[in-house]
Amino acid sequence: MAPRGVPMGELDIQGIGMTSQRTRDRLIATLREMGIENEEVLRVMRYVPRHLFVDQALASRSYENSSLPIGHAQTISQPYIVAKMTELLLSSSVPDKVLEVGTGSGYQAAILGGLVRELHTVERITPLHRNARDLLYQLGYRNVRTHLADGSWGWEQAAPYDAIIVTAAPETVPQALLDQLVVGGRLVIPVGGGDGEQDLQLIRRISEKNFDIESKETVVFVPLLKKIN
Ligand code: SAH
Repeated sequence: MAPRGVPMGELDIQGIGMTSQRTRDRLIATLREMGIENEEVLRVMRYVPRHLFVDQALASRSYENSSLPIGHAQTISQPYIVAKMTELLLSSSVPDKVLEVGTGSGYQAAILGGLVRELHTVERITPLHRNARDLLYQLGYRNVRTHLADGSWGWEQAAPYDAIIVTAAPETVPQALLDQLVVGGRLVIPVGGGDGEQDLQLIRRISEKNFDIESKETVVFVPLLKKIN
């Protein structure tokens, strides 16, 4: 392993100063205080270098528990929300094949990539899709497949999924996402719009036709938009 702060290839994975392991450990402590309990989730969040998923100018803020801009009017989610949604996705067992809608920076994908066997992630904005694809590849993820697509249609090619996570908010749950879940599968999704706040829902497919819906908390996500861009 490279000494502290020394870039490995082009990537400074270890970080230094405000991106050092000590700073990251403080974030993990905050997540615990806020109620995150899944040790696997905390373990993965401790080592994924969030500072590489934000603009260099914001790197010093990357281990604060806040969302940050990633360009194109989009944001990388707050670490607490990433942890919470991941924990909900994993709550009964670790899903094998997962779909993420809204790749954005690729950070949530990297967290999931460290936990599940196969992850598909779709993004509608071309430059975000490309950046995330390249970064995830450079970081060595080979189980994460990135796609440029409108995720309101899910990603039919690899369906069905054991779990689906949506990181942009639709007004109502897209039917395609429900259809692409296995029976027993779970969907974590912010639902609603209008006032800028949404209801984070955990939806379980309990049979071919029946879904159980639980509201978990109030969240703020960018809207799920149609068509690629
Ligand atoms: N998971 C991301 C958070 C990204 S913000 C991260 O860890 O950084 C939400 C993302 O959803 C944005 O990049 C936005 O462009 C994308 N998005 C919005 N509507 C979409 C759609 N219909 N299909 C795919 N991606 C979409």
